Amino acid sequence: MSVEVIVGANWGDEGKGRMVDYFAQDADFVVRYQGGNNAGHTVVNEYGEFKLHLIPSGVFNKRTVNVLGPGMVIDIESLVNEIEELRNKGFEPNLVVSDRATICFPYHRLEDVWEEERLGKNAYGSTRRGIAPAYGDRTVKKAVLIGELLYPEKLKEHLKRIVEWKLLIAKGVYGKENAFTFEEIWEWTQKWGSKVIPLIRNTTALLSEAVKSGKKILFEAQLGTLRDLYYGIYPFTTSSCTLASFAPIGGGLFGVKPDKVIAVVKAFSTCVGEGPFVTLMEPEDAKQLREIAKEYGAATGRPRTIGHFDAVATKYGVMIQGATEVALTKLDSLTGRKTLKICIAYEYDGKKIEDFPLNPVLEDCKPIYLELPGWDENINNVRKFEDLPENARNYVLEIEKRIGCPIKYISVGPERNSLIIKNS
Ligand code: GDP
Ligand code: MG
Repeated sequence: MSVEVIVGANWGDEGKGRMVDYFAQDADFVVRYQGGNNAGHTVVNEYGEFKLHLIPSGVFNKRTVNVLGPGMVIDIESLVNEIEELRNKGFEPNLVVSDRATICFPYHRLEDVWEEERLGKNAYGSTRRGIAPAYGDRTVKKAVLIGELLYPEKLKEHLKRIVEWKLLIAKGVYGKENAFTFEEIWEWTQKWGSKVIPLIRNTTALLSEAVKSGKKILFEAQLGTLRDLYYGIYPFTTSSCTLASFAPIGGGLFGVKPDKVIAVVKAFSTCVGEGPFVTLMEPEDAKQLREIAKEYGAATGRPRTIGHFDAVATKYGVMIQGATEVALTKLDSLTGRKTLKICIAYEYDGKKIEDFPLNPVLEDCKPIYLELPGWDENINNVRKFEDLPENARNYVLEIEKRIGCPIKYISVGPERNSLIIKNS
């Protein structure tokens, strides 16, 4: 038996999907444990290039059962469409959905858009897919669980009460009269729900049996530490817990300590969405790296903000994840840069700080950089650490030293096997 958790240590888009696809090759189960279709996990392998939103990144290993866990919010229309897209590419996904996951309804999408519009220049930079309102409703006990689809008569009465309340909010808060009707929502629920019903399981029972029979289970996070609801750059976070510590709750497996927590770290910084970002790169430089590294959101296509490697934020990110090892991605994207900057501390109010602070301080922090020489050699085909150019090795070793966690994997391309396993 083994249990491993794969998480992001930065702002998301570190390459978790790519790493999960690699580790899933011998996994029996891959479990997504939070988030919804705001995720964009890119996988490039022998079958092609895929952008996954709700479906776990273990889906390309045919014998892996992919679990959408209880901690997720699931837009059932998007799920059915995502399954259909995979089928159209000749791929039959092996999926089950937790009966305890939360349904993300069309009115959640509307509410997300209305709220971002109301906030104007203070908007959070939401993907507008209804994730925050759906999690909010779960917390205030106005959500519908996927498993309720199995009991339509009871669900209908429950949903009626919720829609009545939602319409009051639509009108009272946002001035949207008759934005939707119960009949429309019920029709949507039946249409998409009927296609999801065959996938519904008590996934906690499934996983606890799996552990007993010695199976390998991988947990897949969405986003990264700095977007965690509790430990991230709140309120510019997501609405769920992106941490490895949440995997048992959001994934539904109890009493088992993970053997490994693998934090995925990008070799430079990127973020989508709003919030303080200390190591912002100069615009021309950022533009160049964005094109080379194809830094556009996998869920929304938005250009990602680009920065130098932030060792202060990443050290914090790795620590909060309780990471036992790190996978460093996109090292190849830095080829051809004359010098590379690593932010080793922040300057705030004339003082040097090394611990990642709360937003009111973070917003006024300036980066203190260490500069290292770059390299020009193409490293896409390198498979041994010793074969990397010396300056690339030094860059990796400097990061390793600064973040306080061993770098075990170095990714040098988006494809499944473009990976160096570093032994010491
Ligand atoms: P996730 O949300 O953490 O799964 O990451 P995304 O898929 O949103 O973003 C990572 C992007 O980088 C995707 O386009 C990947 O195909 C790509 N990628 C991942 N690892 C590497 C790498 O080592 N080198 C290069 N060039 N691209 C990579
Ligand atoms: Mg992504």
